Amino acid sequence: MGELLFPLKNDLTRKIIHIDMDAFFASVEERDCPKLAQGPLVIARHPKDTGGRGVVTTANYLARQYGIHSAMSAQKAYELCPKAVFLPGNHEKYQKVSRQVRAIFARYTDLVEPVSIDEAYLDVTQNTIHAKSAIKVAKCIQHDIWHELHLTCSAGVSYNKFLAKLASDYEKPRGLTVVRPEEAVAFLKKLPIEKFYGVGKKTVPKMHELGIHTGADLYEKDEFFLIQQFGKMGYSLYRKVRGVHLSPVVTKRERKSVGKERTYATLLTTENDCLTQLRQLSEEVSEQLKKLERHGKIIVLKMRTSDFVTKTRRITLPKATYRKEDLFSAVSLLFEEQNQVEIGIRLLGVSVTGLDPITFEAIELPLWEPSFDSNEGR
Ligand SMILES: [Mg+2]
Repeated sequence: MGELLFPLKNDLTRKIIHIDMDAFFASVEERDCPKLAQGPLVIARHPKDTGGRGVVTTANYLARQYGIHSAMSAQKAYELCPKAVFLPGNHEKYQKVSRQVRAIFARYTDLVEPVSIDEAYLDVTQNTIHAKSAIKVAKCIQHDIWHELHLTCSAGVSYNKFLAKLASDYEKPRGLTVVRPEEAVAFLKKLPIEKFYGVGKKTVPKMHELGIHTGADLYEKDEFFLIQQFGKMGYSLYRKVRGVHLSPVVTKRERKSVGKERTYATLLTTENDCLTQLRQLSEEVSEQLKKLERHGKIIVLKMRTSDFVTKTRRITLPKATYRKEDLFSAVSLLFEEQNQVEIGIRLLGVSVTGLDPITFEAIELPLWEPSFDSNEGR
């Protein structure tokens, strides 16, 4: 091993769990319609209905035996197993179940970092049941998820996120894999390089070219060499293969709404000026939503008139959106209903509430047929 460029310090005191739901979307559908569990099930629209477009989001374990996996084209899945049942996903349902799963996590620790709809890291170094063993907490979570939601998950337990994630992937479904500090390096050395989280498809061929096929091969390379070849990733891989990954479990607070408002020193007195402002605000809100990867159904207009009366008006769209055109049409409609521009507008605001994560199915079609409700003041 060459000389170390940066100090190598580790932290073995944390207790981290990675939970990954087993074939999540497919399992939810099987739970709700047990007949589906008897054969291969693919969550994707049937390629016959889409002209061959569409992507597999989840395949149940029977479908996987045919080589079907998520991110494969639905057409390919159909070719591999024409008798498979194809079901379009019901994202609202999965979001709801995902929230129920998170509510179970929250019983044991506040430190939960959702990675996706069906995965999360939990730091259970401190936990509500005062368990010394993270294994016990993982078992409790698996038990609760099974008994309350009739779903299974796989858990990985270790002292950092990198190892916990690899561990949950090690045995599926219903796995519970523990990697203890003294086992970490041996565990990592055995892994094929493709399994190293963070080594992307583009990097794998370069690794192979350099003779790195497994964790053991990676372990042999010195730090300087890895940084030279892979930059920052090399720095991080040098550490990961030694069981060092200090990244903390970060709780992402869920944003409930996104909004922008502006106060006008000079009162706005024409409809045109107001609409121009609303268009601008809608665009800013839309940008913010895109950044946060959120969309919502409830669009809110706030306005304050020259007499300092503040009103909010809201409209609930049939489908969530983040698009500036949708936001602008909604608020301009609400604005025009008010018809108060003569007395002068002091403040305008646009916000979207009831936010959900934008998923891969994010809708692109215009969505009209709004339902109205409103509330006065604030
Ligand atoms: Mg999963």
